[in-house]
Amino acid sequence: MLHSLCTNLRPIKTLPPTEFALFLHKFSTNNTMQFSKPIRAETTVHQVPGFCSEEIDRIAEQTFRRYTAESLPKRKGKGVAIVWFRNDLRVLDNEALLMAWVSSEAVLPVYCVDPRLFSTTRYFGFPKTGGLRAQFLIECLADLKKNLMKRGLDLLIQNGKPEEILPSLAKAYGVHTVYAQKETCSEELNVERLVSKSLQKVVLSSSIGQSVKPNSTNSTKLELIWGSSMYHIDDLPFSCNSLPDVYTQFRKSVESKSKVRSCIKIPTSLGPAPSIKDWGCIPEITVLGLEKAKVSKGLAFVGGESAAVSRVCEYFWTKNLLRTYKETRNGMLGPDYSTKFSPWLASGSLSPRFIYEEVKRFERERESNDSTYWVLFELIWRDYFRFLSIKQGNSIFHAGGPRKVEANWSQNPTLFDAWRNGQTGYPLIDANMKELLTTGFMSNRGRQIVCSFLVRDMNIDWRMGAEWFETCLLDYDPCSNYGNWTYGAGVGNDPREDRYFSIPKQAQNYDPEGEFVAYWLPQLRVLPKEKRHFPGLLYIKPVVALKFGNTKTTNNKTMGSGTRTTADENRWKGRKGNRTQ
Ligand code: FAD
Repeated sequence: MLHSLCTNLRPIKTLPPTEFALFLHKFSTNNTMQFSKPIRAETTVHQVPGFCSEEIDRIAEQTFRRYTAESLPKRKGKGVAIVWFRNDLRVLDNEALLMAWVSSEAVLPVYCVDPRLFSTTRYFGFPKTGGLRAQFLIECLADLKKNLMKRGLDLLIQNGKPEEILPSLAKAYGVHTVYAQKETCSEELNVERLVSKSLQKVVLSSSIGQSVKPNSTNSTKLELIWGSSMYHIDDLPFSCNSLPDVYTQFRKSVESKSKVRSCIKIPTSLGPAPSIKDWGCIPEITVLGLEKAKVSKGLAFVGGESAAVSRVCEYFWTKNLLRTYKETRNGMLGPDYSTKFSPWLASGSLSPRFIYEEVKRFERERESNDSTYWVLFELIWRDYFRFLSIKQGNSIFHAGGPRKVEANWSQNPTLFDAWRNGQTGYPLIDANMKELLTTGFMSNRGRQIVCSFLVRDMNIDWRMGAEWFETCLLDYDPCSNYGNWTYGAGVGNDPREDRYFSIPKQAQNYDPEGEFVAYWLPQLRVLPKEKRHFPGLLYIKPVVALKFGNTKTTNNKTMGSGTRTTADENRWKGRKGNRTQ
């Protein structure tokens, strides 16, 4: 059994316990109070997944074996086809790869290190890709190359724009078709348009010398294949333009009327590749204009498809955590409260349909309960945001969002810097923002809280928050990021999602012992647990007052009109938490 292999778990400590740094913390700069009790610095790094690299390779091989097809469509194609990898950095369940293989005698896999991915964000000029996500991408590419080589191919890595690289490769190798995964947001669509246009100018060698103009029959074609969601776009019971505005309606419709397609299986061998002298190198992070980044504390994700399928194995089979996901998913500390699949889903190194099949296998072989269902429920949210991005187009990037809400947002740089650096004076906000900076990850609960704080308590332009997330998140995906931010800012398509997260209440419900804040802000550990969230003078002075007071229980009467109350929020939780809603 695959899961019997998954035994070698290792939470890594960067320092052995005896060498843990002991230090006395000086609280805020104004604070003169000294503590005599030494505090143990918390420097635990949890690698995700927690297996050693040999184990990861073994689990990946086992998984690939299960997904290797005995009978596949006949390979009756001619010539060379390119598979242009984008956010689909995987071998398993990759339809573009299979189509390229079926339609050719030789497949040329290509990844273009597009300089635009390493420029700056649209409105506020933050780095478009932060160091940690760049490092994750590098690991994904190295793993993809390795897995392709095991199947008789390789990965050609070239620095430059796809619309320049692909036509020149098409010309050189007489490529009849470039296959790639279809994207949905403007920047990616623009690249698709440019690639398609530049390929139309390629005259294939069979026509050279015949003084023909390039046309649809003698130039290279671009075939875009759907592959990013759990439900296939062609299987939706409605067109994307008439997508329901309410998530529950969408979910109920697809659950009752659509079926998740089976994963695409892999041929035993994908070779041969065309003969190429120089396959290029996995880029060094410094070549991308970024500094080497290493996680010193918290979660350290391993990039690549092999790590992705190993994490599924670890979470479902080794640790049996799928059984309890629904109860734990709102946690904030450690690797186990939620699946942590998102960084691999965003880079496409993990297929949502593979997760679906593993959930179904778990339900058959172990147990089926609300928790096993709930992972699929969350993946349907992911699908929903992807399809919404088609319906709503660029409005998800605009201040007024899809509902064109007019609001007077501030862009105060001092307040924004306090938020992004984790120095707001609210430990729950600061701990979450420090986790994001250190690891490139933040829990879903944390994301909702810091988003609400930025837009409701600080009244800062939500796009600043969204662009900062774009820089930092390992799992950054335009549809999920901007979709969730528009909801959080109250400019999304469903006005009922407009909600305020009360810090005292969230702290009480989701970090009652103050363990999460003490982990990220170790100076708080010496305080009694009930003081850690509101340390008063012992911590940075809050940069803004909370909109609805600093009390532990939020008084609904003090809530302004138009803002959702804690009771409303509970209703939201109820809706999300109630399968029969
Ligand atoms: P789990 O709880 O284990 O859920 C399983 C999977 O379901 C996730 O991996 C994810 O693919 C999907 N999922 C769960 N919740 C959501 C959701 N609300 N929206 C979309 N998909 C969901 N997720 C991203 O993948 N990329 C983003 O850029 C992103 N930005 C966000 C910004 C904000 C302001 C908020 C509130 C949420 C954002 N999310 C984003 C959604 C969610 O927070 C993460 O998907 C989740 O925290 C990832 O952790 P996990 O894999 O352990 O999730």
